[in-house]
Amino acid sequence: MLPKDLIDKYLNWKENSFSKDKMHFEKLAKEGQSPEYIIISCVDSRVDPNAIFQTKAGEILVHRNIANLVPPYEYLTEHSGTIAAIEFGITALNIKNIVILGHSGCGGIKNGYHLCKDDKLDENTSIANWLKLLLPAYKKLSDQNDKDAIGSLEKISIITSIDNLKSYPFIKRGIETNEIKIFGLWNDIGSGNIHAYNSKTNTFEII
Ligand SMILES: [Zn+2]
Repeated sequence: MLPKDLIDKYLNWKENSFSKDKMHFEKLAKEGQSPEYIIISCVDSRVDPNAIFQTKAGEILVHRNIANLVPPYEYLTEHSGTIAAIEFGITALNIKNIVILGHSGCGGIKNGYHLCKDDKLDENTSIANWLKLLLPAYKKLSDQNDKDAIGSLEKISIITSIDNLKSYPFIKRGIETNEIKIFGLWNDIGSGNIHAYNSKTNTFEII
């Protein structure tokens, strides 16, 4: 049996939020989805793209993974889940905007940082295998202490993911013709601030 708190929350949603938007859901059911944004975010329970952008059902295609990483395309078979979700959004739903949403205090980034630093990426766990993707970003770090370096890795890994996306065969042309746009964001959980990546200055600027 589903836990009571989930049942209560669901029934409350059905009675209130859903009922209020019933026509919207009926339309979605009939016509299908046509979201305008793909958002890649972390599995972290504190970062909720739907809440942050106040979206209704059907507005954003969200794919969540540990540390909001986009693998290089050569990992097609090994990390197909994330690549397939992006490919689906771009080629089947014709989405033109991709947002990578990182965040402060990311446990995945912290864990990956230590695995890189302690040379433990070959640990036979699925998490270590996934966090290997952080190695190229880790190598770019120049910070003196762990705390600063982990904070930098949260942002540098977003830039690495953007670079990886640009090499996807179904995205490359869209980037060249300026039809597809990629945005890098970093959410500071405690303050609610969002910092956006500016590729001209190579910095993250508060919105
Ligand atoms: Zn995270």
